[in-house]
Amino acid sequence: MREDSYRHQGMRRKLVDALRAKGIGNEQVLEAIGSLPRHFFLEPAFEEWAYEDKPFPIGCDQTISQPFTVAYQTELLDLSPRTKVLEIGTGSGYQAAVLGLLKARVFTVERHKELHQKATKLLDSLKMRNVRCYHRDGYLGLAEFAPFDRILATAGAAEVPPALLQQLAIGGILVIPVGETAQRMHRITKTSATSFKEEDLGDFRFVPFLKGIG
Ligand code: SAH
Repeated sequence: MREDSYRHQGMRRKLVDALRAKGIGNEQVLEAIGSLPRHFFLEPAFEEWAYEDKPFPIGCDQTISQPFTVAYQTELLDLSPRTKVLEIGTGSGYQAAVLGLLKARVFTVERHKELHQKATKLLDSLKMRNVRCYHRDGYLGLAEFAPFDRILATAGAAEVPPALLQQLAIGGILVIPVGETAQRMHRITKTSATSFKEEDLGDFRFVPFLKGIG
């Protein structure tokens, strides 16, 4: 386990101030980001910049989302303790850990085996017992644990995967960036078994949501 020094903690407080200034108002989300050592989730070479509001490479041609995006998507989920959440795109495990700190019951899937294994190990070492990692194609969701109160996609989807709409509980919320090269953030609420309310919440940029296992 790497060290979480006073210096890291100080940089993290500044990051939280920056997120607040950019419009993140949910204090629980800010507290989770303020307590989670993001540098544990990055290659040591990027440690110096871990508390900048930027994405960084995590291997397999993927990136850890920038903290603003993590905070924004987490806010949109409107979580309560024990909410059952499916995350598509474990990546480094950082977003899953933020959800875990908010006391959600987290299921997270990743298509790249190497990223899945690395994140599983790190989340175990952080004693995130409410976060479970699976090596799966998230296009198909995680049928055996459905329905989910919340589903969060952290990769940009060309279209909304039907399995995710199906695996959402009635009253549940799906947060997903939609678009091929650039994305618009969508929040979709399942209002009945067959009807949905959809909100378009603006421009974002994500790595692509791909089909199949990596
Ligand atoms: N939430 C991550 C962000 C990772 S980037 C973090 O906090 O670090 C998005 C991730 O989605 C990548 O790791 C990518 O491999 C993964 N991904 C893309 N398509 C997927 C799919 N169909 N199933 C599972 N994971 C997928």
